[in-house]
Amino acid sequence: MVKYEGSCGCGDIKYAFEGEPINSAFCYCKSCQKHTGSDKWFGLWVPKDKLTFTKGKPATYTRKGDSSKDMHHRFCGKCGATVCVEVTVAGFYSVSASTLDDSSSFSPKMAIYTASAPQWAVFPEGVPKFDILPPEFSG
Ligand SMILES: [Zn+2]
Ligand SMILES: [Zn+2]
Repeated sequence: MVKYEGSCGCGDIKYAFEGEPINSAFCYCKSCQKHTGSDKWFGLWVPKDKLTFTKGKPATYTRKGDSSKDMHHRFCGKCGATVCVEVTVAGFYSVSASTLDDSSSFSPKMAIYTASAPQWAVFPEGVPKFDILPPEFSG
């Protein structure tokens, strides 16, 4: 089975996941803007049981998502890079494609929370945009 590996900026935290993500999305929500310092987060949605931390122990910041269920941000306590966010309402990690050792095989399938995007956001061409989530992922 295909395996992907990634790390934070300083290398203290490493992770790996097996198999293809169930979705890959640019998220423009305000939280993603804050924790990336950018207009979006490129998240690869990986079922929780497919991902393991192979080095170090990430720090956790927990906030409530739109569903009012917990979102656990896993980040490096040393360099501060967020490697993934555990979306507890759906049982998956949204893994930061930017932290993969090699993310060249991935491209976004959708752009979500575009209603929250900053006015200077850049959207990918030919990719469906959703104000919040596509109907199949909305509660
Ligand atoms: Zn680090
Ligand atoms: Zn987001």
